[in-house]
Amino acid sequence: MSEKTQDIAALYDQYLMRSYAPAVALLEGHGSRVTDLDNMQYIDLTAGIATLACGHCHPKVTEAIVAQAKLLPHCSNLYYNHNMVLLAQRLSKLSGGYKAFFANSGAEANENMVKLARLWGRDKGKYEVVTFNKGFHGRTLAMCAATAQAKIQNGFDPLPTGFAYADYNDLDSVKAALNERTVAVMLEPIQAEGGVIPADPAFLQGLAQLCKERGLLLLLDEIQTGMGRTGTLFAWEDLGVKPDLFTLAKALGGGLPLSACLAAPEIAALVHPGMLGTTFGGNPCACAAALAVLDVIEQDGLLARAKASGEQLREGLEALAAQYPQILEVRGKGLLVGMEVEGEAKDVVEACRDGGVLCCTAGQRVVRFLPPLNISEKDLAEALEIIGDSLEGLWGAAE
Ligand SMILES: *Cc1c(COP(=O)(O)O)cnc(C)c1O
Repeated sequence: MSEKTQDIAALYDQYLMRSYAPAVALLEGHGSRVTDLDNMQYIDLTAGIATLACGHCHPKVTEAIVAQAKLLPHCSNLYYNHNMVLLAQRLSKLSGGYKAFFANSGAEANENMVKLARLWGRDKGKYEVVTFNKGFHGRTLAMCAATAQAKIQNGFDPLPTGFAYADYNDLDSVKAALNERTVAVMLEPIQAEGGVIPADPAFLQGLAQLCKERGLLLLLDEIQTGMGRTGTLFAWEDLGVKPDLFTLAKALGGGLPLSACLAAPEIAALVHPGMLGTTFGGNPCACAAALAVLDVIEQDGLLARAKASGEQLREGLEALAAQYPQILEVRGKGLLVGMEVEGEAKDVVEACRDGGVLCCTAGQRVVRFLPPLNISEKDLAEALEIIGDSLEGLWGAAE
C-alpha cells in the first residue's frame, strides 16, 4: 500500500464511522477496468455491487449526466420533471404497464413498496408482509425488520413490526407463516447478499398461485437482479410470474442514486397527492442517466451479452471447481454468479484482488461475481485466468 492510500485509510479511520472496511482506494474506471491510487489495475467483477450495468464511465451515460447537470441538476417535486416522466413512460412500456414512484435507494424503494401493500390491505385489516430467511432488503429500520438475518437486525431493537419469515424455496413454510393479517409476500428472485440462491421457478410460480388464492400481493425486490443482470430486463420476465409490485435500484441510475417502486395500475391508483414523497427521488440527472442506461442496454444488446458472458463466467468457474474440491458449487443466473467455497469467501476475494480482479462476498462462504453487463469476452477470460492463479496461490496447485 502506497503512502497515498495509507493517508486516505488513516483519515477514513479518523473521520468515518467504521461501518465499512474498504480495501483499496479507486481512482478511476473505464468499462470493466479500474485503477487505484497506487496505479494498480483491476478487472472489476463487482461493477459497484451490480450498479454499473454499462461499466465505468460509459460515454453515453456520462454525457447524459453532464448535459443534465448543466441544464437543471435538481427539480423539486413541486414542478414537472421531464426526465422523470420520460423514465416512467419507458419503464411502463418495458414492464407492461406498471406505474412508477421514484426514490433514492433500494431500501427506500422497498419501504414504499411495503407502504403501498399496507395501503392496499388497510380496509381488510391486513398489513403483515412475509419475507424470507437469508433475504436482504436494505438497512432502514423497517427493511432491517424485513431482512431476516441476525447480523442485519442485531443491536437495533425494537424493530418495526409487521413482518413474518418463511424459508426460501419452501412453499409449506410460506403457508405456515400466513395468517389473517398477511397482506403480501416479498422476496428477491435470487437471494443475492444471502449467498446467490436462485428461486426455483416452480416455487415462485406456486407462490404466485398461492398469493392469488389467498388474496395476497406478490412483491419482488429486483434491486440487484433488475436492469438486465440475469439476462432479461427484469428477472420475473423469465420466471413465469408477474408481481403486483416490484422495486429497482442498483443499476437503474447508472451509478447515480436512483430507485423505483413499480406498481400495477390498480395499486398505483391508491396513491393521492401527499401520501408518498422524497426530496431527491427521480432527480433529473439520475433519470437522465437511467434513460441512457436503458438506451445502452437496448442498442448494445446487453441482455444477450449478460446471458452469453454469464455462461462464459460459469463455465470458467465450473472448470476451476473441477480442479479444486474447495469449490463446492457455482450457481446463479446471467451475470449474478456465486461460487460457494469451503473456507472463508473473503480469503478468495483478497487473493483475487491481489492478483488484479475485484469480486466480493455474499455471506461467509460465497464469492460473488457481478461484472458489468458489457464486459468483453477477452476481459472476462483474463479475469478467469487471474482467478485461477489466485486460487492456486491460496490453495496450492490444482489436481
Ligand atoms: C442492495 C440491495 C438493497 C438495498 O439497497 P440500498 O440502495 O443499499 O438501500 C435491497 N435489496 C436488494 C436485493 C439489494 O441487493
